[in-house]
Amino acid sequence: MDTKMNSEWVKEQEEMVLSLCICQECPSWVECGEKGGYCFGTIGKSECIFEEKGCICLGCPVADKSGLEFMYYCTQGSAKEQEK
Ligand code: SF4
Ligand code: SF4
Repeated sequence: MDTKMNSEWVKEQEEMVLSLCICQECPSWVECGEKGGYCFGTIGKSECIFEEKGCICLGCPVADKSGLEFMYYCTQGSAKEQEK
């Protein structure tokens, strides 16, 4: 896979994640113009959510489809970061 194809694939994945993300319905959500998708490597942590008031990631179709088992990606970082 060349670099261009690779970045296009990442962009498509990112858009898919954002379209399915349910972060905006979460009690920890803070409205600051972000779109969620914090579990995804190229998005990562939020710059405005700092208080963990509950996380609904485990009920999200992205987590279900991708087998993600972590929570609080907005404050703890993407799935890749949390795996470390
Ligand atoms: S798993 Fe969480 S951060 Fe990732 S798309 Fe779903 S609700 Fe958003
Ligand atoms: S990552 Fe989890 S805690 Fe953070 S906004 Fe999304 S659902 Fe809520």
